[in-house]
Amino acid sequence: MKKRTHNLIRPLVRRLHAYVPGEQPKVRGLIKLNTNENPYPPAPEVLAAVRTATDARLRLYPNPTSDLLREKLARLHGCAVENIVVGNGSDDLLALATRAFVEPEGFHGMPHSDGDAKFTVQYFTPSYSLYPVLADIHGAVKRAVPLRPDFSLPTPEELKTSKTWTPRAALTFVTTPNAPSGRGYATAELEALCRAHRGVVVLDEAYVDFARENAMALALRHPHVLVSRTFSKAYSLCFQRVGYMVGHTDLIAALHKVKDSYNVNGLGQVAAVATLGNLPYYRTNFRRVIRTREALTAALAALGFEVFPSQTNFLFVRPPRFSAERWLAALRQRRILVRWFAAAGLREFLRITVGTDAEAEALVRAAKRILAERPPTITSATRTRPR
Ligand SMILES: *Cc1c(COP(=O)(O)O)cnc(C)c1O
Repeated sequence: MKKRTHNLIRPLVRRLHAYVPGEQPKVRGLIKLNTNENPYPPAPEVLAAVRTATDARLRLYPNPTSDLLREKLARLHGCAVENIVVGNGSDDLLALATRAFVEPEGFHGMPHSDGDAKFTVQYFTPSYSLYPVLADIHGAVKRAVPLRPDFSLPTPEELKTSKTWTPRAALTFVTTPNAPSGRGYATAELEALCRAHRGVVVLDEAYVDFARENAMALALRHPHVLVSRTFSKAYSLCFQRVGYMVGHTDLIAALHKVKDSYNVNGLGQVAAVATLGNLPYYRTNFRRVIRTREALTAALAALGFEVFPSQTNFLFVRPPRFSAERWLAALRQRRILVRWFAAAGLREFLRITVGTDAEAEALVRAAKRILAERPPTITSATRTRPR
C-alpha cells in the first residue's frame, strides 16, 4: 500500500512530523489539566447568543472578514478596523503569517547563512511547539534560539553574539507570557527585542489575560510587530476557534489576502462578539484563576515540587522523587490528566493547567498519595503519545 501512494505525496510532507495536540480524552470524569482550557464556562449571554443564532441562517455564508467582531475589537484596543484580522483560532493566523511573510522552500540541507533570512522562521526554545511545524510545512529555514535557563529572554546584546539568532529573519515568534514555562515578560524588554529585529515579529499573547502586562501598544507603535490574541484560553471558547492579530494596516492587509475566504465560522463570530459584551464576567474568572494559581503554587512547593513563577493559567513544575514521566502515569491512574513533553530539556517537567479550586485540591491530594506510595513504572502502555 505504501508503495502505491509514496510518489503521490510531496517529499516535504512525507517527512513532516505533524503537531501533536494535547489529548482530548473520550472517557468522562477525568480531571483535565493538560491543554490549558478555562475551567469556567462562557458567560450565559454568550451561550444564549449562539443558541439564538442557530436557526435557518446556518445555510448562509458568514461575514468573510468578521466585520462586526473587528469593529468591537478596534474599539476595545483603540485602533482602526484595518489594524485587525480575525482567524480560525490564532493557530490559523500563525500559519497565515508564515505564508505571508516567509519565502517557501528555502531549506536545502545547507548550514545557516545570512542569505537564508528571507526563508527563516525564528523562535525561542522552549516555546509553542507549533512554530517549528509551521516552518516545516512551509519548507522554511528554522532558527531555534535558546531562552536562558530560567526561561527569561536573552538581551539584544546577548542575541548579537548568539550563533542561532539573526535580526533579519523574515518572521520571529515570541510566546509572551511564555509557554510552557509560564514566565511573563515586561513590555519594555519586549520592545527592546522588537527594536533589534528587521523582519516581522509576532508576539503570541495567548495567555496574556493572566499576566501583569500586555504588549498590545507595540503592535500599534512598530510597523513590523504583530500581536496575536485568542478567545480560546481566557474567554472559554476553544471549541469555537476564534483568534485575531493586531498590527500595521499593510501587514494586516497582507494576511487578509492569503486567508481562506470564510476562515471564521459564523457561530464563532457570534460568540466572540457576545464575549466582548460581557468582559466583567471574564475578568472575574481571570482573578479566580490567578488566585487558584497562587494557592496551587504554594501547595505544590510545600510537597517538594519546584514551581516556576507563572503569569499564565498553567504551572510548569519539576516534580520531586520520581521522573516527570512516572508522575504523568501516576496522576493518570488517579484520573488526572497533565501534560508532559518528551523533548530534550523538557522531559523533567510537567505542565499543569490551573483548574477550579476543587480540581487543584484533587491534584494536591493525588500528589500526596503518590508521594506516600510507589508510583507505577513506565511501560509502553502507560506512555502517552510522546513528543
Ligand atoms: C493555545 C495557544 C495558541 C492557539 O490558540 P487557538 O486560538 O486556540 O488556535 C496559540 N499560541 C499559544 C502559545 C497557545 O498556547
